[in-house]
Amino acid sequence: MKYILSIDQGTTSSRSILFDQNGEPAAFAQKEFRQYFPRPGWVEHDPEEIWESQLWTIREVITKSGISIKDIAAIGITNQRETTIVWNRQTGNPIHPAIVWQDRRTAGVCRALKQEGLQDTVRQKTGLVIDAYFSATKVIWLLEHVEGARALAESGDLAFGTVDSWLIYKLSGGNAHCTDHTNASRTMLYNIHGLDWDDELLDAFAIPRSMLPEVKPSSGHFAVTSEDLFGSGIPITGVGGDQQAALFGQLCHQPGMIKNTYGTGCFMLMHTGEQCVDPGQGLLATMACTIDERPQYALEGSVFVAGAAIQWLRDELEVIGHSADSEKLALSVPDNGGVYFVPAFTGLGTPYWDMYARGSIFGLTRGTSKAHIVRAALESIAFQSHDLMSTMEEVTGQPVKGLRVDGGASKNDFLMQFQSDIANIPVQRPVQTESTAMGAAYLAGIGAGIWSLAEIHQNWNVDKVFQPDMDPDTRASHLVRWKEAVERSKGWESE
Ligand code: ADP
Repeated sequence: MKYILSIDQGTTSSRSILFDQNGEPAAFAQKEFRQYFPRPGWVEHDPEEIWESQLWTIREVITKSGISIKDIAAIGITNQRETTIVWNRQTGNPIHPAIVWQDRRTAGVCRALKQEGLQDTVRQKTGLVIDAYFSATKVIWLLEHVEGARALAESGDLAFGTVDSWLIYKLSGGNAHCTDHTNASRTMLYNIHGLDWDDELLDAFAIPRSMLPEVKPSSGHFAVTSEDLFGSGIPITGVGGDQQAALFGQLCHQPGMIKNTYGTGCFMLMHTGEQCVDPGQGLLATMACTIDERPQYALEGSVFVAGAAIQWLRDELEVIGHSADSEKLALSVPDNGGVYFVPAFTGLGTPYWDMYARGSIFGLTRGTSKAHIVRAALESIAFQSHDLMSTMEEVTGQPVKGLRVDGGASKNDFLMQFQSDIANIPVQRPVQTESTAMGAAYLAGIGAGIWSLAEIHQNWNVDKVFQPDMDPDTRASHLVRWKEAVERSKGWESE
């Protein structure tokens, strides 16, 4: 039996899952690492802690499973996206802690770039909007604020990488400096049409090209692990940023196929095939995982507050003990009793874009119970996801035919049924909801020649399909009330 090691480097923990040749998980290990908040709005990780925690989980799954290193045919890597690490090529040491995707320190740099009128250029070339979220302004910040960094960068001594690049560098004993299409497409430096780092943007941002990793298809040869680490070398043959890896793991490989991850927030991606669709306002265009040089694209959108609304009911209002209790409580009432909950705790994103909206609950009467409020909170997750999906339908001009789901809150049957009812499409929940790790394993397995695309399609099994079962009038009235609630939540806060 051959195995594939899937490395899942997330924002709060590093995980490793060993999959056997049949795609079944054989061993799992996870280790959390520290989050550093040196100033308000700043979020950092220690790159060495990322590496050490990841290495620990790799060793742990090998020990737990009792397999020999030689049985691991390939490694796949999936990772938190956009987080930025710059290291010195001579010493191998990072010049600064990793600047995490959530970090807002470069908001001012972004404002300046917008004032220079770069928005359209960035959008056309990278599919992104100018935002502190993406790697480019984090690299600019490092070159401007770390003593001596600019000179080292100019002399070719600095390397920039997202977390996948850093892990490949460490795993290969410093031999490889590369990344994949999906991670490159989140840097705001990569031309997703020309498939190359963009000289005009590099010039505008004053980032030397010599810092950048080589970009490869997501499936194929990246590097071989150093023999010093595990005794013999293991090829790394799959790499994908977490959301794109999940899209791949859900086998959404055809244009129009769509997955939604229900976690703290929601991440929705729609595959658009070899066509890069203009994302309009509020969505992003990004690269989907590639298995050869032919580019693949996706549209991406997110809901800021999804499972977090359930956490709020649990931790702040204390109306439920565990997130999963929300399901039973929601089902204890026949309907939402006219209650609509807009969880705009941090404003509203796609398609409303109102940073002054705030969380609001409408339709309260003397008969409203906590069950109605909990039900309305779950329904809000489905309404917001439906809004995103409708935006994707609008920009592609194609109706969505089905939705594949994963993430913690996708375990909630009430929520999934309501999602299906409101979107009026089937919702498919796979048996294996570790889509991200699975996606990295699939990419590696294909890259190593162990699996074909056809074989992995056979491996994907549905746990449950939720079929729409709501009469059109009820559905229409829900959508009208939801939109009305959203309108009334807008503009509550002021500057
Ligand atoms: P993340 O990766 O963003 O931390 P997870 O995929 O682990 O998120 O999902 C956790 C989120 O899902 C939490 O916000 C939690 O409140 C919510 N959640 C988990 N289980 C359920 C459930 N059965 N019903 C509703 N929400 C849930």
